Amino acid sequence: MQFSAFAQRYQRHSGTVQLMDDLGHARSATGPVYMLGGGNPAHIPRVDEIVQDTLAQLVKDSSVFTRMIGEYDNPQGNPRFAEALADTLRRTFGWQLTADHIAITNGSQSSFGLLFNSFAGPYADGQFKQILLPITPEYVGYTDVGLPSENIFDGRRPTIECMGNKRFKYHVDFDALTIDSHHGAICVSRPTNPTGNVISDTELTTLQRLSRDANIPLIIDGAYGLPFPGMIFCGATPIWDDNIILCLSLSKLGLPGLRTGIVVADPSVCRLIRNANAINSLAPGGVGPALATALLENNQLMQLCNQEIRPFYQRKAEHALNLIDATMADLPVRVHRAEGALFLWLWFENLPITANELYQRLVEKGVYVIPGQHFYPGLDDDWRHRHECIRLNYAAADADVEKGIRIIAELARSLYTSI
Ligand code: PLP
Repeated sequence: MQFSAFAQRYQRHSGTVQLMDDLGHARSATGPVYMLGGGNPAHIPRVDEIVQDTLAQLVKDSSVFTRMIGEYDNPQGNPRFAEALADTLRRTFGWQLTADHIAITNGSQSSFGLLFNSFAGPYADGQFKQILLPITPEYVGYTDVGLPSENIFDGRRPTIECMGNKRFKYHVDFDALTIDSHHGAICVSRPTNPTGNVISDTELTTLQRLSRDANIPLIIDGAYGLPFPGMIFCGATPIWDDNIILCLSLSKLGLPGLRTGIVVADPSVCRLIRNANAINSLAPGGVGPALATALLENNQLMQLCNQEIRPFYQRKAEHALNLIDATMADLPVRVHRAEGALFLWLWFENLPITANELYQRLVEKGVYVIPGQHFYPGLDDDWRHRHECIRLNYAAADADVEKGIRIIAELARSLYTSI
């Protein structure tokens, strides 16, 4: 089959495709599998129960059902959902916004594809701009979304603070952070996938000021963050203004199958998304927004986040950390401070093999993690650190997390002692 030049971007190697493929293979593997890879959220019984009940009510109401399943939504998304969300954000945080500041996409991965290509790449005046990622490691899913053949990201190394109890934390290196006219936007995930880092309020408000001064937007990827699903275990204030593009998602509430992304931004950005939706897919899916509207209108959404989702993941994080502390105490392994999301980021300092080789050796033992080198979009230097870390998803059943961590510890110990 002969493809056009456009198809080349879907034919080259992509970390994201490899990772999603591995997930599929792991699901169909015959031996025991300890799935600590992928970004799938957990199935939290109380959340599943409320979602099932709410969906059943929506299905029973024939006018809602017909609209949800049998009609295209508006290309900017369900207006009732936009009203309900704008109202919640105004009341909760005092943000000055209306339904015109809300747009729906088919998952936040789609939001990033559109936004990054709208702020990076060639501009009418001949300039080529990039998205500044002030701190990498950063979400692997950004890496391959650029339409131009040139790299659309400028990723930066963080500073590393080593802490007691074999923990560490990344910070934005503001001393090295220059913003200039080749930047079209700044983007940061908060909490960060893969590290579980939550950049501090001070770091975030500094980025807010720097982006405003440079007259470029600050994109905040809140897929795991605030206001929902709220998987943050440390103090963090959500911020928004008309120069911030806040990208949210229903996925990490436990609903990745609904493919619903939400963008909270200036109406000019939302109109762009409306047009792109109409052109690329006619309209975003209707089920996610209908469900979220019901959960917003009866105030259950935020309750679920605060009473079920955050405590669930915090407990899972502590469980996984305790296991790591117990099984790897004798190894030079540090863990990034677990501040949010559903991942632990393990740093195997001076590991005699690369993280990718470690990953492959673990797959042979049925343990799926994600090797760290994929998580540096736009960072070109060959920093040893990027080959020394792995990401571990702790949302799986406790017994699987425990078995998986024990196998990782055994393998790492044999590698370190073989030096
Ligand atoms: N942003 C981050 C940081 C993620 O980890 C993910 C998925 O894992 C996404 C965005 C995309 O999520 P979705 O397209 O399911 O909304």
